[in-house]
Amino acid sequence: MNVLVINCGSSSLKYQLIDTDTEKVLAKGICERIGLDGLFTYKPTGGIPFTKIEYDMPTHTEAAKHVIDTLTDPEAGVISSLDEIAAVGHRIVHGGERFAESVIIDEEVIKEVEECSALAPLHNPANIIGIRTCMKLMPDTPQIGVFDTAFHQTMPDYAYTYAIPYEYYEKYKVRRYGFHGTSHSFVSKRLAEVCDIDLDTSKLIVCHLGGGASVSAVYRGKSIDTSMGLTPLEGLAMGTRSGDIDVGAVDYIAKQEGMSMEEIMNMLNKKSGVLGVSKELSSDFRDLWNARAEGNDLAGLALDVFCYRLVKYVGAYIAVMNGVDAIAFTAGIGENDEGVRERVVHKLNYLGVFLDGEANQARYGKEVCISTPESKFPVWVIPTDEELAIARETAALVK
Ligand code: ADP
Repeated sequence: MNVLVINCGSSSLKYQLIDTDTEKVLAKGICERIGLDGLFTYKPTGGIPFTKIEYDMPTHTEAAKHVIDTLTDPEAGVISSLDEIAAVGHRIVHGGERFAESVIIDEEVIKEVEECSALAPLHNPANIIGIRTCMKLMPDTPQIGVFDTAFHQTMPDYAYTYAIPYEYYEKYKVRRYGFHGTSHSFVSKRLAEVCDIDLDTSKLIVCHLGGGASVSAVYRGKSIDTSMGLTPLEGLAMGTRSGDIDVGAVDYIAKQEGMSMEEIMNMLNKKSGVLGVSKELSSDFRDLWNARAEGNDLAGLALDVFCYRLVKYVGAYIAVMNGVDAIAFTAGIGENDEGVRERVVHKLNYLGVFLDGEANQARYGKEVCISTPESKFPVWVIPTDEELAIARETAALVK
C-alpha cells in the first residue's frame, strides 16, 4: 500500500510517499518557507526532481495541496489519483503520557494532542496543522499519528521521575519523556537483526546523533532510559543545545546578564552545544573537525565536550542494564563521523571491544559493523529511516 508520510514544522512540510509492500520511496520532498515566499522541492524516484519558488504557500493548506497535485500530476506525478494513497502517517513530536503507541487520528485524538502542546509548544501545534490540512484534503483517507515520545513510555518511574517536589508531576506531568523514539525503535530492532540477537532478551544502546542527539538504553526490546527529558534540551551536548546543565549556573548567568527566562531558554536551545563552545564557529561537526585540524582550540574543546558526555551516557546505560549486547550509531553524526565513533569505541576497550579502523570509514546509508570480529560485543552503524518507520507503523494500523 502507498503511505504518505508527513512531518510538519512551523514553516515547513516534509513528505514522502512510500510503497510499504516494497518499502520503496516513490517520491519525496519538502515545502519550506511556508507563510513567507514558499519553496517547493520534489524528488520522484527515477524521475526528474525540481524546485519551485513561484508556488504560493501562505499556509500549510496550500503547501499540502501542491504536494498532492504534484504527486498526481499526469507528467511529474508518481500516482494517478488520490485513491492510490491508502493512508497518511503524521509525525507528532509530543504524545505526553497519553500515547504509548501510534493511533488512528480522530477529533478526540486531536484534542488530546492539543493538550500535549504545552509540553512541545514549537512542535505539536505545527503537527496538528498538518493533520487538519490532510483531513480536509483527503477526508476519506485514514490519518495515523506516530509519536516521537511513544517508544520511551516504557521507562520505569524511577528513570522518568525528576527529583523535585512530586506535586509538579501530579499537577503538570513534569517528568522525563524522551524523543527520537521512532528512530530508537527502528534502529534497535534492526541492530538486533543484523547482530542475530533475540530482541526480547537483549540489552542494546542506540546513539542517535544528529542536530539533536539522544542515547537510549533498550532492554528486552523496550526503552528503559533515554537522555532527553521533558523537552529535547536534556542530555547530550548537541549542535546548538546545551544538554545537561546545573540550573544554578543558569540562575547565575540570568542574574549577571539580566536575562529573562525566554532569553535563557533561547540561549540554551539555539546558542549552546558545540556551537556555543566553539564561539559560534559552527554546529556542523565537519566544520569543527576541519577547524580543529587547523589549530582552532575551541573547536577541539567542543568536540571533546560532545564525545566525553556521550561516553558518560553509554557507560551509564551499560551500568543500568548490567551489561550490553550491542551498540548502534545513527543519524547525521552517528552515520558519518568516524572521529566521534572512534572516541566512543576506544572507551569500550576495557570491555574487550575494539575498533575496526577500516570499517569505521563508513559514510551515509552504509550499514556496517565497526568493531573487530574478536570484540566481546559488536558496535554497528545503522542508518535510521524515520519516514520508513512511520510508514510501517501506519500500514500496520490500517491493515
Ligand atoms: P537533524 O537532527 O537536523 O535531522 P541529521 O541527523 O541529518 O540532522 O544530522 C545533521 C548533522 O550531522 C550535521 O549538523 C552535522 O554535524 C552532521 N554530519 C553530517 N554529515 C557529516 C559528516 N560527513 N561528518 C561529520 N558530521 C556530519
